[in-house]
Parts: sequence; C-alpha cells; structure tokens
Amino acid sequence: MSEQTIALVTGANKGIGYEIAAGLGALGASVGVGARDAERGEEAAAKLRANGADAFFVPLDVTDDESVAAAVALFGGRFGRLDVLVNNAGIAGAWPTAPSAATPAGLREVLDTNVIGVVRVTNAMLPLLRRSARPRIVNQSSHLSSLTLQTSPDVDFGDIDGVYMPSKTFLNAVTVQYAKELTGMKVNGCCPGYVATDFNDFHGHETPANGAKIAIRLATLGDDGPTGGLFDDAGTVPW
Ligand code: NAP
Repeated sequence: MSEQTIALVTGANKGIGYEIAAGLGALGASVGVGARDAERGEEAAAKLRANGADAFFVPLDVTDDESVAAAVALFGGRFGRLDVLVNNAGIAGAWPTAPSAATPAGLREVLDTNVIGVVRVTNAMLPLLRRSARPRIVNQSSHLSSLTLQTSPDVDFGDIDGVYMPSKTFLNAVTVQYAKELTGMKVNGCCPGYVATDFNDFHGHETPANGAKIAIRLATLGDDGPTGGLFDDAGTVPW
C-alpha cells in the first residue's frame, strides 16, 4: 500500500483554497488547512472532517516568519515530511489600482502576500518537501498574470491594474526559477478561472470547486507530469 500523501494548502479556510483541500482530502490525502485566523481555520478543518476528509487546521499567516516556522515544526513533528504544497493564499489589494495610482505601501502589501509569502512558505517547507518521494508545489496564479494575454488585441480583461496583476506575473517568474532549481520536484503555476469568492465579491462565474480542479491536478501529477509551466483546465496558459 502506498503512503498517504501529506499536503498543505495555504489560505484554505474559504474560497478556492478550501475546495483544493476538500479535493485533496477526497483523494485520500492528509490535508493541512492553512489559515491565519484560528476560528476560521478550525471551522473549515472541522467541516472537511465532517465530509470525510483527513483534515487538520494549520495556523499559518504567510507574511509572518514565526507563523511559518511553527507550521514547519507542526509538519516536521507529526509527519517528518511534506508531499504537496499548494501556495494558494493571495490578496487583491485595492482592485483595480492603475499604475499611476499605485503606492509603495499598497504594492508592498500585495507582494508580501502574493510573492514573498510564497517564497517564505516554500523555502521554509523545502527541507520537508525534500524528504518526500514525490514532492509537488503548486502556485496559485491567474490568467491576469499572463503578459501574452495582457498584450493580446483579442483579450480584454476590462481593468488596468499595476499591483495585483504584476504580483502574479512576478509569481510566475518565481515559479519558473524554482522549477529550474528543484529538478527533483514538480513546480507549476495554475489559473483557476474567474471564480465566485470573497475575492471578487462573488462576481466570478465559476464555482470554487471548479476553480480548484487545476490545482488538484497539478498537486497530484505523476512522475511524467510537467514542471515549470502555467496551466488552466484547458491546458497550457501562455506566460
Ligand atoms: P478568497 O476567498 O478571498 O480566499 C483567499 C484566502 O487567502 C483566504 O483563506 C484568506 O484568509 C487567505 N489569505 C490572505 N492573506 C493571507 C495571509 N497573509 N496568510 C494566510 N492566508 C491568507 O479568494 P480566492 O478567490 O479563493 O483566492 C485564492 C487564490 O486564488 C488567490 O491567490 C487569488 O489570487 C487566486 N485567484 C482567484 C481568482 C478568482 O476569480 N477568485 C482568479 C485567479 C486567481 P482570510 O479568510 O483570513 O482572509
């Protein structure tokens, strides 16, 4: 019998992250529900357990070194390894912010979560990921990150934004470099689509469960799966 997959999803108390945790739990993984708020995190983990998943709350603020170190200690102590890391936590900032209206503080806040938070969590978890037989890292990006789509005359995202969109483009660049360095792992970015969550006041047209599908697929890639790519449900998304 193969070993149970040990997974961590950041920002898993609601939205797409919650559904990624649910999906990984349904596949039999033991899932850490990363959340910065204890009440929201415990509640989400309890709901997942009630639905049959092997889920547990992991206190985790991706902007806080101590919180991340405590999460590493939790996984290290309980399992001695991590197989799947889904860097899902993200914020939009004041969406949309035209580049001419962006402030250093606003930009710093979004980058601290969407980019530095991913690097902070990933690097802290690397020793545990290196102990996995099949380590998988998934970074939650967005179609809005794609410079190709942003500059295509056939695509109109509607908004001009100089903060959130570039933060996800930066994240893509980081994903590529991780994939080049971590050749024994699979490191990919994903685009969930326009999903109805708090993130967009529930204006998205996809359900969170559908938005979670591509992250779940990348988190469970076989050894012949890709690394260093950006994907949505339909396939490869251009950088
Ligand atoms: P959401 O419902 O607002 O969920 C965001 C999650 O991230 C929440 O659990 C939130 O926790 C958590 N989070 C934020 N800052 C955090 C921090 N510092 N530490 C730990 N957790 C933190 O939004 P969502 O739509 O599910 O978004 C999830 C991801 O998908 C984001 O990376 C977003 O950029 C990406 N995405 C979303 C869409 C979309 O259409 N919704 C499209 C493309 C990409 P709290 O509950 O404590 O705030």
